[in-house]
Amino acid sequence: MSRYVEANCKLCRREGTKLFLKGSRCLTEKCAVEKRAYAPGQHGQASGRRRKASQYSRQLREKQKVKRIYGLTEQQFRNTFKRVVGEPGRTGENLLIALESRLDNVVYRMGLASSRKAARQLVRHRHVEVNGRPVDVPSYQLRPGDEIRITQASRELDVIAASLELASKGQPVSWVSVDRGAMSGKIVERPTRDVIPIAAEEQLIVELYSK
Ligand code: SF4
Repeated sequence: MSRYVEANCKLCRREGTKLFLKGSRCLTEKCAVEKRAYAPGQHGQASGRRRKASQYSRQLREKQKVKRIYGLTEQQFRNTFKRVVGEPGRTGENLLIALESRLDNVVYRMGLASSRKAARQLVRHRHVEVNGRPVDVPSYQLRPGDEIRITQASRELDVIAASLELASKGQPVSWVSVDRGAMSGKIVERPTRDVIPIAAEEQLIVELYSK
């Protein structure tokens, strides 16, 4: 399976915004985006002085940014897009909703993992169950009413306790109810665009993939 090999902070600098790819360390250490607010590489500092970005460039960067936030490969991202094309409503919004409804993302939003990457590990290693059954597919799509919890055998994991401690200082998303003591949560409703805390112009992604 293809993987990102570029350092996380470089990806953030490339997109010019914080993507929070290093979990708790993004909150504790001095962020590379703040320290060096220009793209990485030999010509990074000059890139900000270049001529205005083309429409294609804007579309491409927006797609890359969202893809990197959720930690997906190009194929995974494109497959998600293909799945939502034709669904009622706006395709861009449906894309973000499908990404938010992934099991790994919800585990991260619940505070059970410090990053989506860490959440994916928890899911793949069968530490998470949905409606009472272990699910090891990070892309599993959750629906309203689904209950997510850490398996009984995994509740002592230090990494989960540390994430929950950190998450208790943050703001949970409104569409997932979380019981931190029980290490569980429930999808209250399908997320809508206004409650998805991702700063993105998703319409640019639709335009890019519609060429
Ligand atoms: Fe991105 Fe900053 Fe976290 Fe590095 S520390 S991954 S630059 S948000």
